[in-house]
Amino acid sequence: MAGGRVIWFERGHYPTYIGFCPSERAWRSEMRKLQALDEPYPQSDAKCTRFGTGDKTVVLITMSERMDDGCPIGRAALLVHEAVHAWQYVREDIGTIFAVCVCGHLVEHPPNGG
Ligand SMILES: [Zn+2]
Repeated sequence: MAGGRVIWFERGHYPTYIGFCPSERAWRSEMRKLQALDEPYPQSDAKCTRFGTGDKTVVLITMSERMDDGCPIGRAALLVHEAVHAWQYVREDIGTIFAVCVCGHLVEHPPNGG
């Protein structure tokens, strides 16, 4: 999977940008676009990395090019594992936004008419 570019998933109403990054080269290219040059390319076999850049929260799933010759079922299992982490991050981000909305509502409309 050398080369290529990041494949972004449809974000819909979720607050988090999620993508699959197929190579270290694609990572470097995307980090330039996102102005996130401090984010190191993950060295593990597969990884789900979350970081903030500007007003975006980004989650990128990577799989080492070492895995290209590995068992396809094993690679699929790793991707599913990392996808679960991506969903956990999205749930955390939704929770944060919900908490901010609730706090804002309580400030504007305190209980007991305060
Ligand atoms: Zn894990």
